[in-house]
Amino acid sequence: MNKGVRTKVIIGNWKMNKTIAEARAFVAGLAAAANNSKCIVGLAVPFTAIAACAQSAKETPIAIGAQNVSQAEEGAFTGEISSIMLKEAGAAFAIVGHSERRRYFHEDDRQVNSKAMRLLSVGLQPVVCIGETLDEHESGLTKEVLSRHLKQSLMEMTPREVSSLIVAYEPVWAIGTGRAASPDDVQAVHAYCRSVVHQIWGGEAASKISILYGGSVTLANADAIAAQPDVDGLLIGGASLSLESFCGIVEKF
Ligand code: PEP
Repeated sequence: MNKGVRTKVIIGNWKMNKTIAEARAFVAGLAAAANNSKCIVGLAVPFTAIAACAQSAKETPIAIGAQNVSQAEEGAFTGEISSIMLKEAGAAFAIVGHSERRRYFHEDDRQVNSKAMRLLSVGLQPVVCIGETLDEHESGLTKEVLSRHLKQSLMEMTPREVSSLIVAYEPVWAIGTGRAASPDDVQAVHAYCRSVVHQIWGGEAASKISILYGGSVTLANADAIAAQPDVDGLLIGGASLSLESFCGIVEKF
């Protein structure tokens, strides 16, 4: 999905919502908007709906992905889903390190790094989420936290691997709260993240990595945020659940 040319990417994250039947109907309803859009459109669907959605999306440009993946290759890990299983089911990408995974399932940057590496090893696109909590934001620690997330979540990746990544900056205080970061603040943070990538992995990686913003994006604020020069697209939770709002956002790009 990151083609190295910073085409805008719009990804919906459905979280634990939609049955297989609902998911299929949504993909069919989104097809026209995705066909008419210049952006790359993805849906991170529940594991159970990946195969059905991938089948429904076959004749469309919509990429289907997962919301998580196991860091292990295979074996005795009850309840886990491997990268190979995702690929076989038709996924093109997977989100790793979403703040809900970090908060409720205690995932840390080391695990996020293993998951991203596992995806890269089978040719799936990692979408690596990073972002500061409200406390960290209010304590002025945003840059420090993001620099740590980037260094540790992308640890030991080559510049080429980093060039191919999608990173989503998702301030935890903005997710599902109705309080999106302002376009200027998003731009400043994205430029900072790109500078960290530049410093560690070099100029090519910094110019090719795709950095999305996520956190209370709606039809009303999508344009202004995505218009910022260092914003390569959007990761959308709540507003991706209704066809009307998600198609409306996709049709803007
Ligand atoms: C998310 O969960 O990734 C997200 C950005 O949610 P929302 O758009 O609802 O804030």
